[in-house]
Amino acid sequence: MGDLVIVNCTVVDSRADGTTAEGARVLTDAAVLVRGERIVLTGPREEVLPHAEGARVIDLDGAHLTPGLVNMHTHFSLSLPGGAGEGVKNLNPHELALHMADGARRTLRCGVTTVRCVAEKDHADFALRRAIEAGTATGPRIFTAGQALVCTGGHGHEGSDTLECDGADGFRRGVRTQLRAGADLIKVMISGGIAGEHERIDTPQLFSDEMAAVLATAHAWGRKVTAHAGPAPVIAEAVELGLDCVEHGYQLTPEVAAAMAARGTALVPTLIVTRCKEFFDELGVPEWMQCRSLGAGPRHLESYAMALEAGVEMLLGSDMPPFWDFEGTNATVRELEHMSEGGLGPARALYAATLGPARWLGAAQDIGTVEEGRYADLVAMDADPLDSASAFRTIRWVMKGGRVVRDDRAGEANHV
Ligand SMILES: [Zn+2]
Repeated sequence: MGDLVIVNCTVVDSRADGTTAEGARVLTDAAVLVRGERIVLTGPREEVLPHAEGARVIDLDGAHLTPGLVNMHTHFSLSLPGGAGEGVKNLNPHELALHMADGARRTLRCGVTTVRCVAEKDHADFALRRAIEAGTATGPRIFTAGQALVCTGGHGHEGSDTLECDGADGFRRGVRTQLRAGADLIKVMISGGIAGEHERIDTPQLFSDEMAAVLATAHAWGRKVTAHAGPAPVIAEAVELGLDCVEHGYQLTPEVAAAMAARGTALVPTLIVTRCKEFFDELGVPEWMQCRSLGAGPRHLESYAMALEAGVEMLLGSDMPPFWDFEGTNATVRELEHMSEGGLGPARALYAATLGPARWLGAAQDIGTVEEGRYADLVAMDADPLDSASAFRTIRWVMKGGRVVRDDRAGEANHV
C-alpha cells in the first residue's frame, strides 16, 4: 500500500495528564502522512507535503481530525435479563461468534478504533481478536479480560462470560485461566450490581484474601486488574490492595475518591447505564432491573462529581453495546457527553476517550494521539471536539490502521 497524505483538516489531540483541562493540541491547516498502518509525520501542511511526493491525497474538507475513540467497557456478547438477552444466551458458539463480529464491525464504524472487553462469553473474544488481526473480520483493536471472575453466585454468574471462583486458590486459578487464553487484563466482580435479581448494588462479594490473590497474581504476570464495584467500603479495600481501575463506582464517597486519586486508580463511570430506559425497553429488560438501574442514577452522578472533585482519572466506557443507536447518536458518544456535561468538559473528555485509555492499556506508543509512530487510527468530524463532546456525533470518516473504513461522502462502495 502506497503512502497516504490527509489534508485540509484541523488535528486535535490530547497531551494532557487527565486531571487538568489543559493539554489539548490543535494544529490548523494540518497534514498527516500515513505509511502502511502508521502515521509517519504530522504537522503544518507546508512542512508535511514535501515528504509526501507520490502519496495518495485524502482531502477532509475542513474536518476536525482526532485519534479514534477508545471504549474501555464493552461486551460484544452482552445478555441482560429479558427477551433480547435470552436470545443472545441461546446462540450456539458459531452464531455467537458471528453476532460478536457484527457488533465489532458496527463499533468500528462509529469511530471506536479500540475497545477493552471486560467479560465475554466462552472465550469467543479471543477468536474475534485473532480474526480482526488477521483481517478476516472487521472491528476495533481488542484488549480483553476474557471471562470476568466472580464468586459462586456472584454478579453475572448466570452467563458464560464469567468464571465462578472461590477462595484465594480458586481466584488465582481463575486469573491464570484467563491469562492462558490470552487475556490482556483481568476483570473481577467485587460487589453486586444492577443485573442480578438476588443481590444488591452494595453487596460485598469477595473476601480480602480473594481480592489480594487476584491482584497479586495478575500483577506478577504484568497485567492490570479492573473491578466491577459499587459501594465505597468494598472499593476502599480493593484500592488499598492495589486495584488499577474501578468500573461504575455507583456509591463513592469523598474519602474513597481521594484514595483512588492518590493511588492512581482510574474510574470508568459508565454513567449511561443508570439513565438508559429506552435501551432497556428495546431489550425487554424486566421491571425490577429497570427500577434498580434508574433508581441508582442520582447517587451515581453524585459519585462521579466526587471523583472529579478528587482528581480521579476518568476513562470512557459505555457498558451498553458501543454502537447502539441511542438518543440520536451511539452509546459511546452519548456516554462521553454525559461525562463531559457532568463536569469533565470537552478537553478532558477527549483525553478520557483517547490518550487516557491508551496509557492505561500500556499502548500509548501505538494509539491515543495523532503522532509519528502511532497507528493511523483516526476519525474526522465537522464540529470542534474542544467546543463540545457532542462534536463526536458528527463523525463522518473513520480510518483504522491506514485503511478508510467509513467515508459518508464517498458512497456505499467504501463502506464495510
Ligand atoms: Zn459491564
